[in-house]
Amino acid sequence: MKKYAIREVFGTLQGEGALAGSPAVFLRFAGCNLGYAVCPWCDTDWVKARYHLDLHDTRELVKRTAVETFGGEVPGLLLVATGGEPSLQLDRPLSEALREAGYRVSMESNGSRTIDRSLVDWLTVSPKESAYVQREGDELKVVFTGSAPGPAPDIEAVRRLAEGTHFRHFFLQPLDLPESGPNYTATLDAVKRLGPPWRLSVQTHKVLGIP
Ligand code: SF4
Repeated sequence: MKKYAIREVFGTLQGEGALAGSPAVFLRFAGCNLGYAVCPWCDTDWVKARYHLDLHDTRELVKRTAVETFGGEVPGLLLVATGGEPSLQLDRPLSEALREAGYRVSMESNGSRTIDRSLVDWLTVSPKESAYVQREGDELKVVFTGSAPGPAPDIEAVRRLAEGTHFRHFFLQPLDLPESGPNYTATLDAVKRLGPPWRLSVQTHKVLGIP
């Protein structure tokens, strides 16, 4: 029987992008196909699975989390499949079980793998390499890496990442380094110079001190 490798499940508000402020259950899968060599500044701990659960027990863990945080599985509640790289694990049985329970299923992917769009109601792509394959979705969220390793050192590189893509929203988000914090000034300046449709995405969960 298939087991999902899960790092953590928690209820909170979505902090980033166009759905910021939405109550959400985060389902963080373990494992990433890129890893810390590609993104040395990665701010998530996805390496070791805390749980290996089958479909039934994964649903139970999500349900318990929704009950504890929101009082129940409120219809339309956001389920954010994240990681690591969630496309390595989110499959049709899990997506269907979540939708049957009333969730809007959202995925945050690094875009290095083709995503089956029928599995998700909302797709965020945040590319971590200049070449990426999933070039269509609901929002493109680029981390403005500046002089740190990454695909977005300057606004020309940001424009190239968006070239020929099909997204509804385009976000530039500050890189948050442990030693210096978010590069707000450089990112604000870049958004001003990029102009529409680019917008600033702030990691509001960090500002608010919530998960
Ligand atoms: S792709 Fe995402 S989860 Fe994987 S190492 Fe890079 S930032 Fe972290």
